[in-house]
Parts: sequence; structure tokens; C-alpha cells
Amino acid sequence: MTDTTPMIRLRGVTKRYGEGATAFLALKGVDLDIQRGEFVAIMGPSGSGKSTAMNTLGCLDRPTGGEYLFMGAHVESLSRDERARIRRRYFGFVFQGFNLLARTSAQENVELPLLYRGEPAGRRHAAAAKALESVGLKGWEHHTPAELSGGQQQRVAIARAIVTEPAVLLADEPTGNLDTRRSHEIMELLSRLNSEEGITVLMVTHESEMAAYAHRIVRFVDGQVASDVLNSEPTQPGSFTPAGSMEAG
Ligand code: ADP
Repeated sequence: MTDTTPMIRLRGVTKRYGEGATAFLALKGVDLDIQRGEFVAIMGPSGSGKSTAMNTLGCLDRPTGGEYLFMGAHVESLSRDERARIRRRYFGFVFQGFNLLARTSAQENVELPLLYRGEPAGRRHAAAAKALESVGLKGWEHHTPAELSGGQQQRVAIARAIVTEPAVLLADEPTGNLDTRRSHEIMELLSRLNSEEGITVLMVTHESEMAAYAHRIVRFVDGQVASDVLNSEPTQPGSFTPAGSMEAG
């Protein structure tokens, strides 16, 4: 792969759910190139195909038609196992609902992907402690999700997503369950991971204020890319000052 080849290339990607009369085309020919190191916000109305596109990009699902090249590999023709291998090696996932194991400490939640990879305990502990520190949760390792605020739970989820040192972080409405202040804190964290660690970040959001942190905004309408614009002045970490009183979170 040369430097000019995008890390991600979608060409005419379609995704059909169901068969026959009930079939539904959720993606209707998507073309999208994403370079390594980009920070992209994906916006668009509900039902426009954002999650379907994210599932496709993250190799969770296979396109029905068209081409998906990830680092030169044709994902559309890979088997389930081959896609899983790419997913585990290159992708981290963050969801709106945090998706943490409830009665399990932050440390153990973050170690899980490494446990699945068969990493020995010593390496798991060290890597999870480092990931938790990088999301600002040093000292909170032994707390369970119920003992953490929503913002802290999402930080744990981000630590779990980055503990494997992924090339790409896919975040589907990561601030959807958080108040404004915590949302900005999460966006600052994603910005830092992008600018300092070089992680490519693709994030679905319906909030313009959160999308403003991204360097590029792709809008989906009706299963297609309706617009794709660069954001020349992304919001910088540290620029958010909460208006009015402190919010609990
Ligand atoms: P968004 O994330 O933009 O809200 P989605 O990608 O979730 O949109 O969904 C796009 C369209 O595909 C919607 O009309 C949705 O109902 C449909 N869809 C999504 N997943 C499935 C599925 N598993 N089976 C059938 N239809 C689906």
C-alpha cells in the first residue's frame, strides 16, 4: 500500500436487509475514501444508513454489493473468520450505551479484549492500566460501572476500545447518553486520541456541536452520501466552557 492509497475505500457499496418483497436497501451505492489519521463525523437523519455503514466499515457485516477495500484487502469477499481477524487487529468500537460488564471492575472490562487475544495476565494488567490512565481514570481501576458516572463509564469503554492499539476507532453516538459537559469531555478525549496517538476516528453523531470536533463531516441521506465536507476549524480540546451552573454527571 502506498501512502496515497486510502486506508478505507468504499465503492458502490450496497446493503440489503431481507429478501424478496420485504427486502430493504439500507445502503444504495456508497463511495467513501478515508485516509489513515482522519477524524470523520458521520451525520444524517435516523434511518439514513449510518449504523449500517459503520457495521460495514468495522467488518461486522458484509456489503451486499460493491467493494470495500480495507488496507488493500477486499473485505466483501472475506469469510466471517477473516473479517473477525481484521476487526480484532485493527478496530476499536465505542457505543452509545457503553456496553460494559456490570459487576466487573473497570480494569477487568478493559482487559477483556486482551483476554480474548490470549495475552498473558501481566501484559493485560499493564496495558489496561495504561489505557485507563490515558483516558483520565488512573485511581478508578477497581470501580465497577455502577460506581462510575456516565462520562466515566464511556471513558472505560474507550479505554477498552484502545487497549488493543487499534488503527481505527468506530464510535456510534458515543455522547448520546451524556449531558453536554460530559459529551464535550468525551469529544476532547477522542480528539486527543486522534491527534496524539494517530488513531483514525469515525464517529456517528446527530449533534452538530460534537461533529464540530471532527475534521471532516460526511452526511448520509437515504442510504447515500449526500455531502462530504472538510471542517477547516475543528473545535479544539479545552475550548468548551460550560455555560451556567455545573451539571451532575
Ligand atoms: P441510521 O443508523 O442512520 O439510523 P440504520 O443503518 O440503522 O440507520 O438503518 C438504515 C435502514 O435500514 C433503516 O430503515 C432500518 O430500519 C433498516 N435496517 C437496519 N438494520 C436492519 C436489519 N437488521 N433488518 C432490516 N432492516 C434494517
